[in-house]
Amino acid sequence: MRKIVGIGLLVLLASCASNPYRGSEKIYNTQIRSFTKDLKKKEKNAYLDSAGNALASQWVSTVNFNLRKPNYVIIHHTAQKSTKETLKTFTQAKTQVSAHYLIGTDGAVTQLLNDYLRAWHGGVAKWGSISDINSVAIGIELDNDGLSPFSDAQINALIAVLQKLKTSYTIPQSNFIGHSDIAPTRKVDPSVYFPWAKLAEKGFGYMPAPLLTEPIPTTFDPLLALRVIGYDTKDGAAAVTAFKRHFIGKNDGSDLSEEDLRALYNVYCKY
Ligand SMILES: [Zn+2]
Repeated sequence: MRKIVGIGLLVLLASCASNPYRGSEKIYNTQIRSFTKDLKKKEKNAYLDSAGNALASQWVSTVNFNLRKPNYVIIHHTAQKSTKETLKTFTQAKTQVSAHYLIGTDGAVTQLLNDYLRAWHGGVAKWGSISDINSVAIGIELDNDGLSPFSDAQINALIAVLQKLKTSYTIPQSNFIGHSDIAPTRKVDPSVYFPWAKLAEKGFGYMPAPLLTEPIPTTFDPLLALRVIGYDTKDGAAAVTAFKRHFIGKNDGSDLSEEDLRALYNVYCKY
């Protein structure tokens, strides 16, 4: 009997040692139970009239529904040293940040959150009229310090994840964008090293066509074009800088050359 208890203890210790994220797993499961309770709530008399009196309202359950689906993918680089460091960041409550997926330089994929749940990766951000990006988007972090190229293994793994997400949730090609697109005054990720053209070839995001020669209309308004694409142009220079980082692969500020304007006009025409 004593021997069996001993073995049991050893197994328990071994499982603790093999899963350093046991603590966050427990909290995750507790939160899921709490959200399940929220989903079961059936509100009645929840509205107040102008005098502050509860309006009579009832609940009748429909039978035709499913889960809401994410419609955007936001790509980030971690600006950290390793997958391990980022996993530590994402499993500690004090950091208040997370993403659905983390992809290592070796192409290893870690999922941290069910796709249907809201991760905390966008921060203060805007795209088109969407002000709560986290509610509509999947967040994908790439382990990268922000100063280095992305490995083929990592990008190939990313493409595999994107393919599954695009198919599962019918995400349009235009809706694969970067953190710096939605928060141009605050963020620069993913960096100019990120291969947006390779992704666009596979159907994730748009890029300007090569060797552009078509004339730009004299009435063309670059800031209006950026707004049509989705950029928040409250800070026009930041929006242009972010556009150039993503769509032209340049990290040289907010001036638009003739070539840059052609690229902007070409991308704008795809929207
Ligand atoms: Zn980011």
